[in-house]
Amino acid sequence: MPVFIVMLGAPGAGKGTQAKLLAEKSGLTHISSGDLFRDNIKNETELGKLAKSYIDKGELVPDDLTIQMVKERLSRPDCAKGAILDGFPRTTAQAEALDATLSQMGHKIDLVPLIGVPESVLMARLSGRWTCKQCGAIYHTLFSPPKQAGICDLDGSELYQRPDDTPETVSNRIKVYSEQTAPLIEYYTQRGVLAEINGNQEIEQVTQELIDKLPEVN
Ligand code: ADP
Ligand code: AMP
Ligand code: ZN
Repeated sequence: MPVFIVMLGAPGAGKGTQAKLLAEKSGLTHISSGDLFRDNIKNETELGKLAKSYIDKGELVPDDLTIQMVKERLSRPDCAKGAILDGFPRTTAQAEALDATLSQMGHKIDLVPLIGVPESVLMARLSGRWTCKQCGAIYHTLFSPPKQAGICDLDGSELYQRPDDTPETVSNRIKVYSEQTAPLIEYYTQRGVLAEINGNQEIEQVTQELIDKLPEVN
């Protein structure tokens, strides 16, 4: 049976970090809506141009564009065995669209880990975040530094700081999370799939808590 997991948590909670580790361990496909938008921006697509105007301000990209993009990604063969969604859904409309899409495919959401981190920690996490231009690996200058500053351990490519990780944009992203995404905690609690994870501990400890909650992947 395929397994579908939705990573929930504020910006900087560690969704991307954990989703990548879990995907490696489980063989499930990692889908980050933020990465999909950033690929579109890099490739200068129409969607990329539209999305950039929202991302730069820390606002959400409109639901119809976002839902269409993720639906297309989920229809690809590498999702037949399941997927780990990271950054999607972020609104109730997106969550409802995801339920409908998965149900059409004969699937459902198995687990929604909520990675909890105090709001006071998020800014320090995001202001020290560096990402690989090539493979998307995530580092932190203090908490998870690369062996050589500015260089990816995995492929030697250059690291960069995301333009939406400035303090002003981060503040707005946290506000947007509280207003538009936090209602999904109740949405998934009601469906019996929410699992609270303590995100305010070492990366490996967070991963262990997640693995303990993970359904068998066949
Ligand atoms: P999200 O995808 O939820 O926005 P990331 O996974 O990109 O968050 O993590 C944000 C930043 O915090 C990154 O720089 C990452 O290296 C760092 N980080 C992630 N998890 C932890 C942790 N448990 N402890 C300390 N730093 C962490
Ligand atoms: P992330 O990489 O998850 O931090 O997302 C970066 C930015 O992309 C967000 O601040 C939004 O502007 C946009 N974005 C990513 N995922 C979504 C989504 N599910 N819905 C709307 N906007 C999104
Ligand atoms: Zn890399």
